[in-house]
Amino acid sequence: MTDDWLLRAEAICLACGGHCCNDAHPPISAHGYERLLSEGVAPEIFETAGYRRLRTRPDGTCICQVGGKCTIHAVKPETCRAGPFTFDVKGDTIEIFLKFESICPVVRLLKEVPAAYDQQYSLAKKSITHLVAHLTDDELAAICSIDEPETGKVAEIPRIRLAGS
Ligand code: SF4
Ligand code: SF4
Repeated sequence: MTDDWLLRAEAICLACGGHCCNDAHPPISAHGYERLLSEGVAPEIFETAGYRRLRTRPDGTCICQVGGKCTIHAVKPETCRAGPFTFDVKGDTIEIFLKFESICPVVRLLKEVPAAYDQQYSLAKKSITHLVAHLTDDELAAICSIDEPETGKVAEIPRIRLAGS
């Protein structure tokens, strides 16, 4: 059975038109890069600017967005799965932030429905932990240097380091 809030969230995102995908440049770890290539994603959709990321078109839309929809939804990057949660890293701590309602309408729903918040927070925590574990310190520094205004910190979780990293 599909949860009612999930249908409501889909309707809100549809009406929004994927605002969060504009200039998103989701980061891609070496692990994620290999995974996406194995799924048949073209290497031309990536670029490097301090870290590997998805390109955007000149109008700011993500290279993977067509007609307001994500063409790689089933395998989309970790930060896309985590939204509207985002992150920063301070030493061995990952700080989790939530976007303000003013830039992401679905946040209001998450605040109104505890089950929705809990499920999306859980997915965000898992996705961000996985991404951070597979990024180098230099990549993380480049990603975390990007200012993310209109977000508020909601949690701190431990950073998991892979053996040898
Ligand atoms: S997650 Fe937020 S910003 Fe992204 S499409 Fe949905 S409502 Fe819009
Ligand atoms: S990969 Fe998909 S969900 Fe992520 S920014 Fe691009 S279009 Fe949006």
